[in-house]
Amino acid sequence: MQSPHSSSTAEQSEQKSTGSFNPVLLSFGGNLDGTMERFERALRRLSMSGFNVLKVSGPLVNPAVGCEPGAGDFTNISVLGDWNGTPLELLDLTQSIEVEEGRPADHPHWVSRTIDIDIILMGFQTIDHPRLKVPHPLAASRDFVLVPSREILPQELMRFLEKA
Ligand code: AMP
Repeated sequence: MQSPHSSSTAEQSEQKSTGSFNPVLLSFGGNLDGTMERFERALRRLSMSGFNVLKVSGPLVNPAVGCEPGAGDFTNISVLGDWNGTPLELLDLTQSIEVEEGRPADHPHWVSRTIDIDIILMGFQTIDHPRLKVPHPLAASRDFVLVPSREILPQELMRFLEKA
């Protein structure tokens, strides 16, 4: 695993990982019909596409905050896996799964959604690219990310996430 001080630039988003274990934390969320079935299909699709799923948290059901009036509760899970492609290749994959599951690419923020897949951590890397910020800039302030992640994340990475 890389040290907590490892860096840092847009170039990193294009670089393939090296070494045997490249831990990646994803957060799934959704609040429309069939959320858990969508999550299961997304996990299968990730596995078939080179993302090795290692641990999946239990679901956290929580109220929709900041969505349209009457929006249903969200369900969130955290997923720990191993990815040997580049960060942007993983973003392309998660975004194609979102579209397949009925979420338009230009979906507005703060409205109900079939599935949202965020890349929360890629080891201890910091990535600042126009399409991809890692650690996810809002993750450390979102209980719906932190609570399920605590179930599955190695302690050192959890501490890194909480301070991100
Ligand atoms: P959202 O609708 O909140 O899921 O935001 C999607 C947009 O955030 C896309 O344009 C992504 O390119 C961008 N983005 C930036 N950082 C991340 C990240 N860590 N995980 C997923 N999407 C990201």
